[in-house]
Amino acid sequence: MIKFLDLKAINAAYENELKEACARVIDSGWYIMGNELEQFESKFAEYCETKYAIGVANGLDALILVLRAWKELGKLSEGDEVIVPANTYIASILAITENELVPVLVEPDMETYNLTKEGIEAAITPRTKAVLPVHLYGLISPMPEIMQIAKEHNLLVLEDCAQAHGAMTDGKKAGSWGDAAGFSFYPGKNLGALGDAGAITTNNDELAQTLIALRNYGSHKKYENSYQGLNSRLDEIQAAMLRVKLKYLDSETASRQNIADHYLRGINNSLVEVPKLNVDGEHVWHLFVVRCAYRDALIKHLVEHDIQTLVHYPIAPHKQQAYSEFNHLSFPLTEKLQDEVLSLPMSPCLSEQECQKVIDAINSFKVV
Ligand SMILES: *Cc1c(COP(=O)(O)O)cnc(C)c1O
Repeated sequence: MIKFLDLKAINAAYENELKEACARVIDSGWYIMGNELEQFESKFAEYCETKYAIGVANGLDALILVLRAWKELGKLSEGDEVIVPANTYIASILAITENELVPVLVEPDMETYNLTKEGIEAAITPRTKAVLPVHLYGLISPMPEIMQIAKEHNLLVLEDCAQAHGAMTDGKKAGSWGDAAGFSFYPGKNLGALGDAGAITTNNDELAQTLIALRNYGSHKKYENSYQGLNSRLDEIQAAMLRVKLKYLDSETASRQNIADHYLRGINNSLVEVPKLNVDGEHVWHLFVVRCAYRDALIKHLVEHDIQTLVHYPIAPHKQQAYSEFNHLSFPLTEKLQDEVLSLPMSPCLSEQECQKVIDAINSFKVV
């Protein structure tokens, strides 16, 4: 079977190094907030071309903590509006509502699946205080335009980079454009730990100092608490795993780009729409998402060819029971995506033969 994502195979490539790193942490006798975290934070900041990278427990916390820090710093207050794509993973929206801010859902562009300048501008009200662009599937949002709008309207920008480690536009990395960015290192992400982990990047000194306290009970100094903080730390074992994996991120991204290139050149079926490439920016292909009006039939056809696929995401946030207050809203483009998107196998370990099998199976798909 061609798996959607074979995590065991991905990590097996670094087995010895990961085990050595693990042993190093065990032998150190120091498991939280130590040298591994410091080393990883410094390398990841360097990678993202930002002044700071601050390790936290997961990607959702990264987003929650930035918005919380802006509240502590008096830049946001309860009831302020935050513009966010309607078609994102629910975590982006949870970070907003967790802080008692108001998510303003905006339809995506149907070629990039990201926010657009026009969409954001139409959603701005006197209460809008921030924009939360999500670099969905690994393609960076139009950040030069978004930063321009933010400047004109005095908005904060928080990038959701959970799917876009290393993506770029205009020669600048995802996570270095906004006032801050949240990353996830969930095992299935492009840079994946062997458990939960996340990070925040920023160039802002005041924000960084606030976040360093907030992730650790609101404390800068042991047993002295400036804020009612959280416990959201990136532990030494995961930091050590990430130090190993970060070294190989760019070569894994190149493999993903190579697979995407094969798919784009090989897939040729009028029933299946492949991603458009007339977009700015370097795509890191967290997911390769096609669209098909006969998705259930396509999934079945691919299963018959021993190919596993997934849907990102089958229920849009505004249709979730958790957000019953939004269930009456209508986002036709987001709902069309919810019904049509299908993610093909994508991983740095997918072989060319496997890739070709997927292409052949898709090209032989018909509706009867
Ligand atoms: C994975 C993901 C998150 C959350 O990351 P976790 O580490 O799972 O908490 C946030 N936003 C997006 C777009 C994601 O894909």
